[in-house]
Amino acid sequence: MKHLSEYRDAHLVKGVIHEIHRIVTRPWVIMEICGGQTHAIMRHGLDQLLPEQIELVHGPGCPVCVTSLELIDKALEIAALPQVIFTSYGDMLRVPGSQSDLFSVRAAGGDVRVVYSPLDAIQIARQNPDKQVAFFAIGFETTAPANAMSVLQAQSLGLHNFSVLVSHVRVPPAMHAVLGSPANRVQGFLAAGHVCAVMGFWEYPPIADQYQVPIVVTGFEPLDIVQGLHLTVRQLEDRRHQVENAYARVVTRAGNLPAQKVIDRVFETCDQKWRGIGMIAGSGWRLRPAFREFDAEARFDVAKVQTQESPICIAGQILQGLKKPHDCPAFGNPCRPEHPLGATMVSSEGACAAYYRYGR
Ligand code: SF4
Repeated sequence: MKHLSEYRDAHLVKGVIHEIHRIVTRPWVIMEICGGQTHAIMRHGLDQLLPEQIELVHGPGCPVCVTSLELIDKALEIAALPQVIFTSYGDMLRVPGSQSDLFSVRAAGGDVRVVYSPLDAIQIARQNPDKQVAFFAIGFETTAPANAMSVLQAQSLGLHNFSVLVSHVRVPPAMHAVLGSPANRVQGFLAAGHVCAVMGFWEYPPIADQYQVPIVVTGFEPLDIVQGLHLTVRQLEDRRHQVENAYARVVTRAGNLPAQKVIDRVFETCDQKWRGIGMIAGSGWRLRPAFREFDAEARFDVAKVQTQESPICIAGQILQGLKKPHDCPAFGNPCRPEHPLGATMVSSEGACAAYYRYGR
């Protein structure tokens, strides 16, 4: 298959890995930001082929993992209301809140439905005018355009029974948070290719300059990932800190301008709480005041939820690259994908789930 099989060519991958072995002279810690890249690294065993000097740590780029406990608990409360149809991507149904999860709400009689797009939720709202339909609008920059479009469509259709529970997070402020931490270990980044496909990478050069770290825009196939690592290691060895694009078949510096325009029309920047990490200034998007009628937090009175995080879970430290999943005393027992204690064991992009699934 063109544009897929050639990026999984073992011979080509081994050639780039050989080159990394050739140029590396000292230990380096590199973070792949995106959970999709974490899973690709584990699935293809790339971490086991790298020189022992290269340590990969796993970043906060898993939207299910970093959605705040407060938002999860608000979702649970809204989903349990009798007049509500609560719609969400499937990954969110097993994410543990303080006391429960969306699966349990559904088992108890709540109308919780899995959708594949916010436009499915719009359709459900049109078909059920006597019900309130709420959509759990989570994600990074990648899902924001479709979520923004759903709000615009609801407005143009005059839908008064549709709302969104927004939990949008942005990558660049999270990179500042990781790099600005006194405990930071990260010396180079693989930036998430799909985020950059939407936003471009014009926001990254000031970060590379400020913290003197190389940042390489990287895709998701094995060859993409090892090429991203090769460029990062080469910069580290040369003492350079530039932004490079190893995913040029998809990403441009400017990104997708129409998508950025629709995001900017519907959302405004806000401070955002990340699960396990805490508040990161300017790291979220919320609905602009003009779209407040579609804000599920305003429509349903859920402002005062009390949250309680598992005292065992160290997912926040894992998402900042400070710890690995097997550093957690609960990893594998009692925390497993079928009995997760934290979101990083639930999500298909979570680092704990990746380590468990691929036997690390
Ligand atoms: S193994 Fe489970 S409890 Fe431990 S950090 Fe991962 S999700 Fe949290």
